Amino acid sequence: MDDYLREIQGKTAHDPYRNINFGSSSLSKRCVWVPGPVIVGAGPSGLAAAACLKEKGVPSLIIERSNCIASLWQLKTYDRLKLHLPKEFCELPLMSFPQDFPTYPSKQQFIQYLEAYARRFEIRPVFNQSVVSAEYEKNLGLWRVRTGEGEYLSRWLIVATGENAEAVVPSIEGMEEFGGDVVHTSRYKSGGVYKGKKVLVVGCGNSGMEVCLDLCNHNATPSLVVRDTVHILPREMLGTSTFGLSMWLLKWLPMRLVDRFLLVVSRLLLGDTGRLGLGRPHLGPLELKNLSGKTPVLDVGTLDKIKTGDIKESEMFSEKDGLPKKAFPNGWKGECGLYAVGFTKRGLLGASMDAKNIAADIESWWRAEAKHPDLTHFLPVFHAETQTHSKGRRRFI
Ligand SMILES: Cc1cc2nc3c(=O)[nH]c(=O)nc-3n(C[C@H](O)[C@H](O)[C@H](O)COP(=O)(O)OP(=O)(O)OC[C@H]3O[C@@H](n4cnc5c(N)ncnc54)[C@H](O)[C@@H]3O)c2cc1C
Repeated sequence: MDDYLREIQGKTAHDPYRNINFGSSSLSKRCVWVPGPVIVGAGPSGLAAAACLKEKGVPSLIIERSNCIASLWQLKTYDRLKLHLPKEFCELPLMSFPQDFPTYPSKQQFIQYLEAYARRFEIRPVFNQSVVSAEYEKNLGLWRVRTGEGEYLSRWLIVATGENAEAVVPSIEGMEEFGGDVVHTSRYKSGGVYKGKKVLVVGCGNSGMEVCLDLCNHNATPSLVVRDTVHILPREMLGTSTFGLSMWLLKWLPMRLVDRFLLVVSRLLLGDTGRLGLGRPHLGPLELKNLSGKTPVLDVGTLDKIKTGDIKESEMFSEKDGLPKKAFPNGWKGECGLYAVGFTKRGLLGASMDAKNIAADIESWWRAEAKHPDLTHFLPVFHAETQTHSKGRRRFI
């Protein structure tokens, strides 16, 4: 064997992640014992949880189905996307955005930040493996997490698969007969390809509104279909971000009063949105968000264009919508070492709060344990078929 090949082989033999690249035949599928938590999903929430755990000396392993971190942001978002909220409300725990980033970082800047974050906390997810099932083995006190490639065993399971990771395409009567393109926003990149065309945008959330604006800017003619009432607020009011101002006001005033204030200022700045066919819900924007998770739309210019004529299950998760059953801020913790990060309907701020809570909770378990194996490496793998253990390791089967 060439020297360089021998060297690579020598190095990789001690790389814990290397062991996780299973062969494709079922006979070669392996079972990996992960001493710390298994985190499913390498989006911002999964990264935040891994970093918080790392800071507390707890190793973890992220399993990600796509080939990169933050796949939603890298692969399923439109070109003109910027963070909807100011950067101070979107930073992950333990690392701020670079000072020279604008208030609303672009998608590319946010991805850069996340890549730097993963580097800083030495987070190296296992990519291209989709978790297909996770079962808690009561008698072993372990989670058995299966992917198409093999199986991972851990005492803790953190679900960070995202609120928006799956495209929801409604079935609309007559859609099959429609001759034109039907595209979900996760596949929409830019209005350039729709230049000169009439486009129907279904849904008036933050994405639908921004896609409309993008279409206008590319000389397409969009029409917006709105099924329900919606709160549209200016992104900024009184010289500051509406979100920041709301958070500040909530420290002093009851939510209903803050809602009233937001609605009065919005009326002054945006006019009567109801006259544009965008009626407001009976509950105020913050109360509605708190009760139903429905996010108000932060207008970045779409309203002006409208004026000018131019949406396995475990006991922790609800059967209805797959989200944690417990309301915020208590949805992060289930039973038997099961956790959820990033399902708060409060974006990155909620994900950061979850990540810190989870790390603190696991840390107390981790420290309470008498002894741990070498934290910097995962224990060697063993074949599920033979169930043999390498010497001196903890027995769990
Ligand atoms: C267009 C858009 C703009 C947004 N802007 C903002 C904003 O400005 N501010 C804000 O706070 N929030 C914003 N959000 C909310 C957004 O959900 C968060 O920003 C963030 O991406 C959530 O991170 P997450 O890690 O919880 O989920 P995701 O980013 O969705 O990551 C989940 C990851 O889990 C992986 N995964 C899913 N299932 C499996 C499986 N079975 N096995 C392995 N891996 C799996 C996915 O591939 C994905 O990489 C925006 C969302 C969208 C769609």
